[in-house]
Amino acid sequence: MSSKRKITVAYGDGIGPEIMKATLNILEAAGAQIETDVIEIGEQVYLKGISSGMEPSAFESLKETKIFLKAPITTPQGGGFKSLNVTTRTSFGLFANVRPCKAYSPYIKTHYPKTDLVIIRENEEDLYSGIEHRQTQEVVQSLKLISRPGSEKIIRYAFEYAKKYGRKKVTCMTKDNIMKLADGLFHKTFNEVAKEYPDIETDHKIIDIGSALIAERPEMFDVIVTLNLYGDIISDIAAQVTGSVGLGGSANVGEEVAMFEAIHGSAPDIAGKDMANPSGLLNGAIMMLVHIGQPDVAEKIANAWMRTLEDGIHTGDIYQEGLSSKKAGTQEFAQAIIDRLGQKPQNMAEVAFDKSATEPMNIKVTKKDKAKKELIGVDVFVEWDEEGRDPNALGDKLRKADADGLKLQLITNRGVKVYPGGMKETFCTDHWRCRFLTSNQDAVTHTQILDLLKQVEGLGFDFIKTENLYTFDGERAYSLSQGE
Ligand code: NAD
Repeated sequence: MSSKRKITVAYGDGIGPEIMKATLNILEAAGAQIETDVIEIGEQVYLKGISSGMEPSAFESLKETKIFLKAPITTPQGGGFKSLNVTTRTSFGLFANVRPCKAYSPYIKTHYPKTDLVIIRENEEDLYSGIEHRQTQEVVQSLKLISRPGSEKIIRYAFEYAKKYGRKKVTCMTKDNIMKLADGLFHKTFNEVAKEYPDIETDHKIIDIGSALIAERPEMFDVIVTLNLYGDIISDIAAQVTGSVGLGGSANVGEEVAMFEAIHGSAPDIAGKDMANPSGLLNGAIMMLVHIGQPDVAEKIANAWMRTLEDGIHTGDIYQEGLSSKKAGTQEFAQAIIDRLGQKPQNMAEVAFDKSATEPMNIKVTKKDKAKKELIGVDVFVEWDEEGRDPNALGDKLRKADADGLKLQLITNRGVKVYPGGMKETFCTDHWRCRFLTSNQDAVTHTQILDLLKQVEGLGFDFIKTENLYTFDGERAYSLSQGE
């Protein structure tokens, strides 16, 4: 048996302390070789005025142990508090959120007894950067940033995960029929990385139909890899269809640090009543044990847990009249699992972790040659609410701006072309994107753009932002508008 591994533990808020106690008791009884460093996080820390919900000493502990078993916390109501999960993910580079969603039918009610899928969600990019601006009286913007290395890391992680855990298929989900550049980059990277894993079946689904299929035919999925926001949404759909929202564990994995927890929150409504189901956190802890190289212990606990479910010993949230034999409290349920350590489920498939699953995954990012980047124009965004918002009036004014041939080509409103030749039916807000290019789309300089902006300002416009228009290796690197 390996020597004791130090891990950081937080008991959290609400039901956190009860389910953590139950979980750690099970881990200890199963022979997990761990030593805990307990830190305080959550509500009390927030209320002390620490906006991250985590004391500096907690960060130090995590830096040292690199493994975090975390009970749910309560985020105080009102503004100013940062999400502790987001802080931990971004500070420690936890780029992968791994959420297995499995049915335990008939012991846990579900319409889809064959479901056994894992969602691997990108954790650091996308709309979660929280870069938002109000730009005009009517319009706000939220920036979606997708990087190639960020996409490659999570996609490679998904394939490595599939390989190590004996999964057969990886499905990528994006909305690249609409976001051709951002989601297109993710899909393209998926296709490139997939070539290195010829033994794994691959598939791509547009996120909307993909989500519908998770809700209707979840058994068709194995591993799903997707961007941050879509992953957030489909994780809950998948957990819901398996009937196991209260049972799901989740891992947030980075190159060095990893955090393991339950999917659910701190359930203040049942806190302190010995009613909470500790299974979500326990499943998180099982993932942790595999991660830290103790798959035998993880297996032993997972099998004893399933045997407990089969024996009908259930906490109130999963109790079913006629099927359950006993309604157990949190600690009683934990004891029932401890009593079954060494036993296997008799009806559900037993868990057997591949021992190689504990080897660290080697997630490399391919170094790409730098493409030749050329500046060929600029989109100038203006706030304008005059002359009945007639795009022709705006266009006629802006045509006067000309910096060395950098001329107005078109205007769009919320992405729809309204000038020249727009339709009067198109609804227009006070937020206009005005595209300036040279007639031959020649290279332009930043000085030309600054000169253009001076002229736009001189014409009396409030320009709210600009986006440079580039080509990379001669390829257009911006989207065309609808109607362009
Ligand atoms: P919740 O998941 O805490 O509770 C939703 C419902 O599920 C409640 O009725 C609750 O009693 C029940 N439930 C949850 N876990 C259970 C368990 N283990 N056993 C039995 N029943 C369980 O969601 P909420 O009520 O929306 O949020 C409560 C607090 O938790 C909020 O402050 C929220 O910010 C926080 N939260 C924290 C995390 C986290 O720390 N990772 C995640 C989600 C929500």
